Amino acid sequence: MKSFNDGKPYHGSHEVSKGKLEGATGETDYFYFFCPKCPDREIMRILEFGEHARDDVNEYNVHCKSKAKYGFTLVFKLYCEKCGYSDFVKISNTGWQGGKHSEILSRFK
Ligand SMILES: [Zn+2]
Repeated sequence: MKSFNDGKPYHGSHEVSKGKLEGATGETDYFYFFCPKCPDREIMRILEFGEHARDDVNEYNVHCKSKAKYGFTLVFKLYCEKCGYSDFVKISNTGWQGGKHSEILSRFK
């Protein structure tokens, strides 16, 4: 596999932070991200993904009833065909995954 983002730095911008990047499944279990710039939930393409991090042990297992097999962080490069906007998003199980979304956002107020 080629190196993610051609080896260049990648970090999601403020446009996708603080709850501004949203998405949903369609008619099946596939998940779609919506362009944060366009109206009416314009679906973004995923141009590539990379493995940002992987750990043999998930640090939250000792605190949880459920047990993750490992820790991982995947990064996706998103692109909107309509407006040309591009950004990055990460999906990970190495941070805390529980509680309510509003509690995450309230930490930044
Ligand atoms: Zn767009």
